[in-house]
Amino acid sequence: VTFLPSEEGSGKGAALISAVIDKYLYSMRFSDETLLDIMQQFRRELAKGLGRDTNPTAALKMLPTFVRSIPDGSEKGDFIALDLGGSNFRILRVKVSHEKKQTVQMESQIYDTPEDIIHGSGTRLFDHVAECLGDFMEKQNIKDKKLPVGFTFSFPCQQTKLDEGFLITWTKRFKAGGVEGMDVVKLLNKAIKKRGDYDADIMAVVNDTVGTMMTCGFDDQRCEVGIIIGTGTNACYMEELRNIDLVEGDEGRMCVNTEWGAFGDDGRLEDIRTEFDREIDRGSINPGKQLFEKMVSGMYMGELVRLILVKMAREGLVFEGRITPELLTKGKFETKHISAIEKSKEGLSKAREILTRLGVEPSTDDFSLVSQVCTVVSFRSANLIAAALAGILMRLKENKGVARLRTTVGIDGSLYKMHPQYARRLHKAVRRLVPDTDVRFLLSESGSGKGAAMVTAVAYRLAEHSRQ
Ligand code: BGC
Ligand code: MG
Repeated sequence: VTFLPSEEGSGKGAALISAVIDKYLYSMRFSDETLLDIMQQFRRELAKGLGRDTNPTAALKMLPTFVRSIPDGSEKGDFIALDLGGSNFRILRVKVSHEKKQTVQMESQIYDTPEDIIHGSGTRLFDHVAECLGDFMEKQNIKDKKLPVGFTFSFPCQQTKLDEGFLITWTKRFKAGGVEGMDVVKLLNKAIKKRGDYDADIMAVVNDTVGTMMTCGFDDQRCEVGIIIGTGTNACYMEELRNIDLVEGDEGRMCVNTEWGAFGDDGRLEDIRTEFDREIDRGSINPGKQLFEKMVSGMYMGELVRLILVKMAREGLVFEGRITPELLTKGKFETKHISAIEKSKEGLSKAREILTRLGVEPSTDDFSLVSQVCTVVSFRSANLIAAALAGILMRLKENKGVARLRTTVGIDGSLYKMHPQYARRLHKAVRRLVPDTDVRFLLSESGSGKGAAMVTAVAYRLAEHSRQ
């Protein structure tokens, strides 16, 4: 079985186009057998990351998050949530109240994170975050209050408690100096203290996957997995504490941040990585790292398509062999262009617009070819994510020892939300790969901020409790 929906080629060249796609992108299309194989590999990696002795060399870091349950409905209060590391840097105020039922009121603002700041010094980055937070509090008229803050920080962090997070390594576009190995809560606190114009109480560092799971858990108590398919990709899920060697205790569960973007960093995915994947990796700011992420996430998918088109053009298979400087420019073809081209209605006119901006003069056959390349690349992404997610679901099923798993997966991320067919393809593939499962996919409508506030609320309640 292959999963490329056959699209009607329009010109005479339809057969030729299919032949070209087959030849070039053969290794990007997977059978269910291959996907099941990847799923099994991924399951073994999960176990490896959880084991005390195997963790140090495991590709999946399986980071304990110190979040022990999804919201129970009793949370309340007035919180600030910071969300750094996704497509936007956002600051939110989240008010959770309890009249008859729990209600949440949110206000938020998006702030810029210019290139020179995310690639500059860590001090500057955190000064910037503290400055934006000050601006937000001023606008909210709460500069005199010391509100509890939940910090959604979308990077791998080592934690031994909720309000501490040592950055293991930057991913995606970030590369600020002097932050790796440091506790980001300390860095932010320092930046706030230095200003001296307001106070904040950072109660929790939360990965965006965890924030997403908690946001969705607010609406659906069954939610026990959180995934992000955006600029980067990652997943967390509720694991039995007895299986988490790195944390004391055997009772109950804890959310584990898998950092699945690093799947394959130990060479495990070499069989399915293509020359294009290797080229992307070589040109990235973190070569050899986040290899799975580079095959599937929004930061890289557009670039994959561009590299494929360049190669095809070089061999005269598209654009009459014309290669323009734009086509050769890294980042000129973006993942949002894939989404636009794959929209069946506006697809063609969008494709014309996008390709014109690349300076090429596409023929009808060129459109068809480009759109098929987009489909192969985005379909591969959905399939690979499905295989990994299937691995997590199988694990949950085994942990619970049930014949049929009923569960909810909370999802967020620009690629998942913006691509016209991504969600449907992903859901279908997951359901094929894990039979005997009723999975509900829940889109996190309000991002991870609400969830981060929930985590903060619980931490705050516990801290109040211990103070009394
Ligand atoms: C980071 C994860 C994050 C994901 C989605 C990855 O690059 O390592 O921590 O959850 O991106 O934002
Ligand atoms: Mg995000």
